[in-house]
Amino acid sequence: MQVYGLVGNPVGHSLSPPMHEAAYEETGLDARYVTFEPDRDDIAAAVEGADALGVSGLNVTIPFKQDVLELVEPDPLAERIGAVNTVDFGGETPQGYNTDAAGVTRSFERHGVGLDGNAAVVVGAGGAGRAAAFALADAGASVHVANRTAETAVELAGGVPGATGGGLDTLDRIREADVLVNATSVGMESPDETPVPAEYLHGDLAVLDAVYTPLETRLLRDAAAAGAVTIDGAWMLLLQGVEAFERWTGRDAPVDAMNAALRSHLESD
Ligand code: NAP
Repeated sequence: MQVYGLVGNPVGHSLSPPMHEAAYEETGLDARYVTFEPDRDDIAAAVEGADALGVSGLNVTIPFKQDVLELVEPDPLAERIGAVNTVDFGGETPQGYNTDAAGVTRSFERHGVGLDGNAAVVVGAGGAGRAAAFALADAGASVHVANRTAETAVELAGGVPGATGGGLDTLDRIREADVLVNATSVGMESPDETPVPAEYLHGDLAVLDAVYTPLETRLLRDAAAAGAVTIDGAWMLLLQGVEAFERWTGRDAPVDAMNAALRSHLESD
């Protein structure tokens, strides 16, 4: 039996276990997915120990995504983003990936939204914003990052080919954009809050909200009212998990089974 898992603190409410267990059941893979909650100081010992014990792969979440970058061999994208959320122990040395990036691009692909040559605005410059900005640029989009703390956006944009950055006063760039990602926590657990004034939304836009509690955020309601394509945060969560499953196993992930498990857990919360 293979063991996969999630390392973070806290991990109690994670949706990764049901999503990955559904994948193992659907594909007949003899595997289990377990959660680990080490103290902050113990993360190096935890990763080394997992490797020594024959754990096949780990997802990594808050607060360890940056720490783990230093403990594994990150691929170039994870290195540029500065965070690892997936470790594969299958090779000579543990390999690190950032599958949040694929979660963003695959969410648009799955909804038939092209990225190459299109203009993207990313709101937020934290972990999710960094992953979105690099992923969208790698997919051929021209990226503008708008963040509450303007300097963080400018600094992030400085490392992303062709990107620009600014404060929330630059959100009017959305009027001319094809693609919008909310990578802030605004709207989480607060159904009336949105990071983006509704007047900037329009019918030629596709909007991905990384927030998934609630699934239907005010941003997505406003975007739907403006005629935009709307993509909820469960897609990003699902497709980062799909990417991790595929990297770990070398098989196509059973996306529909993983999606059903994820959404049934989200809706029952
Ligand atoms: P993070 O690193 O803490 O970054 C938070 C971002 O939100 C920062 O850019 C911050 O701006 C901004 N922000 C916070 N409060 C704000 C406010 N009141 N007004 C404007 N901006 C505000 O967090 P993260 O890990 O990137 O996560 C961000 C969101 O994405 C969370 O809701 C998380 O659940 C979600 N997420 C979803 C997925 C998925 O798979 N769907 C994956 C990762 C994250 P400052 O720099 O000014 O503080």
